[in-house]
Amino acid sequence: MSLTTKIETPSVTYEQPIGLYIDGQWVKGKEGKTFETINPTNEKPIVAVHEAGPDDVDIAVSAARKALNGVWADTLPSARGRMLTKLADLFDEHIDTLAAIESLDNGKALSMAKADVAASSACLRYYGGWADKIHGKVIDTDPETLNYTRHEPIGVCGQIIPWNFPLAMWSWKIGPALATGNTVVLKTAEQTPLSGLYAATLCEKAGIPAGVVNILSGFGKTAGAAIASHMDVDKVAFTGSTAVGRTILQAAAKSNLKKVTLELGGKSPNIVFNDANIEDAISWVNFGIFFNHGQCCCAGSRIYVQEGIYDEFIEKFKARTAKNVVGDPFAKDTFQGPQVSQLQYDRIMAYIKAGKDAGAKVETGGERHGDKGYFIQPTIFSGVSDDMKIMQEEIFGPVCSISKFKTEDEAIKAGNETTYGLAAAVHTTDLNTAIRVSNKLKAGTVWVNNYNLISYQVPFGGFKESGIGRELGKYALANYTQVKSVRMRLGSALFG
Ligand code: ADP
Repeated sequence: MSLTTKIETPSVTYEQPIGLYIDGQWVKGKEGKTFETINPTNEKPIVAVHEAGPDDVDIAVSAARKALNGVWADTLPSARGRMLTKLADLFDEHIDTLAAIESLDNGKALSMAKADVAASSACLRYYGGWADKIHGKVIDTDPETLNYTRHEPIGVCGQIIPWNFPLAMWSWKIGPALATGNTVVLKTAEQTPLSGLYAATLCEKAGIPAGVVNILSGFGKTAGAAIASHMDVDKVAFTGSTAVGRTILQAAAKSNLKKVTLELGGKSPNIVFNDANIEDAISWVNFGIFFNHGQCCCAGSRIYVQEGIYDEFIEKFKARTAKNVVGDPFAKDTFQGPQVSQLQYDRIMAYIKAGKDAGAKVETGGERHGDKGYFIQPTIFSGVSDDMKIMQEEIFGPVCSISKFKTEDEAIKAGNETTYGLAAAVHTTDLNTAIRVSNKLKAGTVWVNNYNLISYQVPFGGFKESGIGRELGKYALANYTQVKSVRMRLGSALFG
């Protein structure tokens, strides 16, 4: 099997790398295994890619260690920055191909995939700008001592990413890690390996030295677990489910106590007050849950509507949702494509059944869309009580639950009644309500009169069981640096 293959998508034909990218080389896995990635639109295999096992993780970690202590340590911060900026430019130049790969492999609409690529390049460019602005402090203690801090790279970073935003997650991880002088072994999700491999070819073109970025395709229980428990990986950054996040933390604890950052699940409340601009609120609520087919960790899946507008809200929300075009990701007007896999499709349909069985009312949807591909109708449940499974658990699909509230306190209490704390939103025209409620919601991000607005400049991450640490913005730099205090004695010996 050669290590690239030609792939035709409805929008572009391109050369897809299928090997593992280790130490600047394209190689097969040591165990000689491959696995197929499936097109969720037609359920057919796209291509088989080489699979990394624990031995390949070892080789990639050694390459990353060698680069960390060698070529990367000798690279000026400003040069690191220029490479990241160049990589961002290459993302922009290759936007049509990168977006087509995402639509093919993940099923997201091409227009949304292009927005993902643009957001990814913006993120890489932003961290390119930070590379030569990483510095510590001078701390005065007494005239006889010079104290300063250095923000040094943590070292070899293992990065494990999910399938819902393959390129965006790739950039959120690689941008800050490289800006601060670390090297990386990144494992893509087994459902969507293709765009990460293509992006590796752009790392080569950007002049990033061999071994600094290593990209592996493989499964969580083998390659992912090997990264999390590796004795020579200094840090692991993970985005994915809360259940796997726990195993990553355990693996770090049982191995070398590597630093851990986690961006995990959510069950985010979206609260709409009587005085909200109802048309705008519905537009954001619709985007909050149905964007990316509900496959967002921050999806606004619990919708609390104040009693004065509850009936009107439901009717208008249903009418708005009916306008979401579900279908072929490559079709011009598509908003919602298929779910990523059979497994996700089955999980979501099981939740829909649980909602129906528990007596929640299906306002719209609740069934498969079409007869092939993993398509699910946008689904709205009303009359959902807090103890129902569909109100408690992360569904990760185009399914939301609406509930009625009377008072502000009741909305805040219900909004916080979850083990998660990734995001929340409040819709109101009263500034005081907006500020009071935002302050009381226990979530890493609170959107006021919008939803899902994410910027590379603004930190993102979870309270409670939604994660540890923050990605994006200046805050992410702290996750990729460790502080060294240097204390220089200028005067005479202290004692005698
Ligand atoms: P999902 O259930 O949405 O697929 P996961 O949390 O299972 O989300 O997967 C997110 C990422 O974590 C993927 O790259 C996957 O391969 C990886 N992963 C899954 N299980 C493990 C594990 N035990 N150790 C390390 N990584 C894992």
